[in-house]
Amino acid sequence: MSRSTVVRPEEIRRHNLSQVLREIHRYGELTRAELTTSLGLNRSTIGDLVGDLVRRGMVDEHVPGGGDKAGRPSHVVAPRPDGPYVLAVELDVERIVSAAVGLGGRVHVRRETTIVEPAPGEVVDRIAADALALAAEMPASATLVGVGVSAPGTVHVTEGLVVHAPNIRWRDVPLGQALAERLPGLDIRIGNNANLGALAEHQRGAARQMRDVVYVTGSVGVGGGVIVDGTLLQGSNGYAGEIGHIMLDPDGPSCHCGSNGCVETIIGEHALLRYAGVTDLGPAAVAAVLADAERGSPRAAEAVVRVATSLGRTLAILINVFNPEAVVVGDTLAEILRIECATIERELAHRAKAESRAVTPLITPALGRDSALIGASELAFQHVLASAV
Ligand SMILES: [Zn+2]
Repeated sequence: MSRSTVVRPEEIRRHNLSQVLREIHRYGELTRAELTTSLGLNRSTIGDLVGDLVRRGMVDEHVPGGGDKAGRPSHVVAPRPDGPYVLAVELDVERIVSAAVGLGGRVHVRRETTIVEPAPGEVVDRIAADALALAAEMPASATLVGVGVSAPGTVHVTEGLVVHAPNIRWRDVPLGQALAERLPGLDIRIGNNANLGALAEHQRGAARQMRDVVYVTGSVGVGGGVIVDGTLLQGSNGYAGEIGHIMLDPDGPSCHCGSNGCVETIIGEHALLRYAGVTDLGPAAVAAVLADAERGSPRAAEAVVRVATSLGRTLAILINVFNPEAVVVGDTLAEILRIECATIERELAHRAKAESRAVTPLITPALGRDSALIGASELAFQHVLASAV
């Protein structure tokens, strides 16, 4: 520490309290003995800190049963089901999912509304109504402590501004401010869906034990998130991780971002359908092309190989730049990986540096469709975990 000021005991205590709460949040429940080991604090300090969290109504302790073996079993510390919770919202092209999520990442109750290309006012109304409806389903003592929203576009995170979300036709929507007016007194955070997916997979999914991870997800849009040394890479405004707009082909199709030949225009679902000669759009058309490719239909198989080739090139760039422990590949791109792994591996063998490639497995997400929702809850809990209040 470069500061010459003395660290006061209450600062140390608050830091330790935050560390205990983070561990319980991350693992769901832990024994006092596990907390003692993982945090390197002595037993009486852990007992004292846990007692503080119990008094604040955040966690409960119980002594596990299981007989009269020698020695006292260590107390198990777990989040209270009627303790603090956050409102996590996933705003998507066709739906809004809202959930009350407790410490430990437990989804208590959720609501899902089908809503196609929603206007900002509709979204704010829906979220405010969901907040009330979910609160009515939670125990009376449970307290809403924050709101996290996953948006399908570029987000200025400190201003809560959805800068550009082309798939729902939003530009410069002050969503954070609009929600703050409807849900006063709450800490409200907005994040990009792919960044939040990366956060969730790192915190609770396929990349749980890793420090450095790249997450790439693609359906119509292609996005991603990068975890560096255990922290989501945000960039100066929160715009980092726009993997879909890496330029792969200077002569490629024009992109909504103003450039052309972006990854999204070459490996996104619209590209796959175009390569397969299919004019329909939507999930059913994509599923049909993938099924045809697996059955060996030449045109569909060729379309999947084209996407897989460019996906392999994209992953090679990411592996060379970030040297991750793994790359998590999600959504439709995970299907491309499953069907055409050999093509992707061939591109990686050719284009990624051998020493990085040799240590980088390609894996698929563990949280399925809920990764952005869980990521939104993690975003909403950040201030609670930092201050333990
Ligand atoms: Zn672009």
